[in-house]
Amino acid sequence: MKIIVDGKEIDAVLGETLLGAARRAGIHIPTLCYHESLEGQGRCRLCMVEVNEGGRKEVVASCTYPVKEGIEVTTSTPVIDKIRRNIIMLLYKRATGSPVMRQLFQEYGCPQNSLQENPEERCILCNICVRACEELGSSAISLIMRGTQKRVATPYDEAAAVCIGCGTCARVCPAGAIEMTEKEGIRVIWNKAFAMQACSRCGSYYASREEIAHLTARKPEYVIQSDLCEDCRKRMMAEKIAVFVSE
Ligand code: SF4
Repeated sequence: MKIIVDGKEIDAVLGETLLGAARRAGIHIPTLCYHESLEGQGRCRLCMVEVNEGGRKEVVASCTYPVKEGIEVTTSTPVIDKIRRNIIMLLYKRATGSPVMRQLFQEYGCPQNSLQENPEERCILCNICVRACEELGSSAISLIMRGTQKRVATPYDEAAAVCIGCGTCARVCPAGAIEMTEKEGIRVIWNKAFAMQACSRCGSYYASREEIAHLTARKPEYVIQSDLCEDCRKRMMAEKIAVFVSE
């Protein structure tokens, strides 16, 4: 189907969201709580856009709004920019320590008098880490407490038995809020230390042993190359293809 985004006709597929279609067409819509491998949450509301459907206009979260034939979308209007600026000011006030929030704060020209209450805090409570961990089948972290005390944590802030140290939560976090350190083959995340597997080809540490065991149990085919890091796996594949082509 065809939809119009910022005056440009683009292709969209039934069942996808406005954000998905716009991104595929190279149109930028800002997001924080969105990751392409997870369903949209509509949580941070930064991806708000204006939709005109047969003359009826509404402001919607593009990460959850399904595309419809013939709609016209505007990704930036004075109203939308104001909504985004207000969201950014609130999130920056909560998570002043996040470099991403600081950058957005400046980019959107937010007034400097909008307060910095938590200079050390980086988490914007977007929940994407919790979702990613659930998707993996671990559910080692969750949002706990309420109001200003709300935060992401493992149960009782202790090392969670179900955490496999994969680091996915840290990688998907848009605000750089989850601390993960790696030193001499030991990864530490969420108060738990994990011995890492060294690649049998290049020797670099690439995954925790628990993660490899978890992946192998879920995807038996993974076991075939589970002693290689991702780069070496790709290289080995390319070498095999090159040999195949030259024969
Ligand atoms: S490191 Fe632990 S908490 Fe983070 S996504 Fe992996 S299993 Fe979940």
